[in-house]
Amino acid sequence: MNVYVDNAATTAVSQTALDAMLPCFREIYGNPSSLHTPGQRAAEKLAEAREVFARNLNAEPREIVFTSGGSEADNQALRSAAVIGARKGKKHIVSTAFEHHAILHALQALQKEGFEVTLLDIPENGVVTAQQVKEAIREDTCLVSVMFANNEIGTVMPIAEIGEVCREAGVLFHTDAVQAAGHLPIDVKAMHIDMLSLSAHKFHGPKGVGVLYVRKNIPLTNIIFGGAQERGKRAGTENLPGICGAAAAFDEACANMEANAAKLIPLRDKLIRGLTQIPHSILNGDAVNRLPGNVNLCFEGVEGESLLLLLDAKGISASSGSACTSGSLDPSHVLLALGRPHEVAHGSLRLSLSEYNTPEEIDYILDTVPGIIEYLRNMSPVWDELETGKRPHLI
Ligand SMILES: *Cc1c(COP(=O)(O)O)cnc(C)c1O
Repeated sequence: MNVYVDNAATTAVSQTALDAMLPCFREIYGNPSSLHTPGQRAAEKLAEAREVFARNLNAEPREIVFTSGGSEADNQALRSAAVIGARKGKKHIVSTAFEHHAILHALQALQKEGFEVTLLDIPENGVVTAQQVKEAIREDTCLVSVMFANNEIGTVMPIAEIGEVCREAGVLFHTDAVQAAGHLPIDVKAMHIDMLSLSAHKFHGPKGVGVLYVRKNIPLTNIIFGGAQERGKRAGTENLPGICGAAAAFDEACANMEANAAKLIPLRDKLIRGLTQIPHSILNGDAVNRLPGNVNLCFEGVEGESLLLLLDAKGISASSGSACTSGSLDPSHVLLALGRPHEVAHGSLRLSLSEYNTPEEIDYILDTVPGIIEYLRNMSPVWDELETGKRPHLI
């Protein structure tokens, strides 16, 4: 059986999204900036796609900027807020220790340019609070950037409360909503969000398409210079097939959001119940306040990489940490921020479900994982030391 449970890394393009994309390759192929009829047909398609994102986020079409993905949207949001802040002499930014690297590495670049960054600690349940944000805001804070939902452990932040704190303090609020968009309700007005990033390939849209929502009257700074596309804020001929696919996927995901969650939550919870019965295992992140499709655990005495390879051999595609950190030997910065000791963080497993997964697949995972863990532990000298009492169990 082949089971794909790495949907936090990327998803399959839905049939609806594919159907929306195909005409844009050979029929509606004009350049939206061209004045002729084919160009104007493309421009109409682009406007429709913008409208879809605006409607589902409770934004206005002119507040939607298409980018090449979540990473670019994150970079442009941070850079723009930094430029606005610097003009006012405000060079302090508040974010969290478990953001995606698109945020953390962009912040590091800003630090080299003289910005000061406060990264909030991650509480034990993996949910950053509005109170933490409030206490970190200073006179010279120009931006708060807190992710909507974490990509590794799936925990969901109180975004509306954080937005309120920021609005009251007069500080710009950006949220990396790449994991939340299409999976959780988002209302940029009610949640007091000034800037928001999302990425189509995390909700069954194509790769290489992102959106930066930016509240009107907040000036964006260009990262890509060139033509006047996206109101002059993001140059380059629009990726029309990708954008149309992204819009179709987003519309579909938002329309089916409740039904998808109702399907996923029982599957998620069955996995959590089953896998936490394995001795010396622990769930990472709050059991309830998490994305409908996210399961993330640590197993003591197991190497995450070996676990993944053996799962792959059984047809199960999962992840340990995020796709970006796999391939490196460092344990996940998210699990370390959560307070897991290095040796425990190394034994992590993330299963991220989508509505395409079936109950049979969940049963297959539950039948397969415990045997692999036992096999790996039996071969492990570390496990031997834990079992003979030479080392204390940490979980
Ligand atoms: C995937 C992801 C990104 C990056 O989006 P891309 O479109 O792949 O550039 C950023 N933030 C989070 C939380 C993500 O999960």
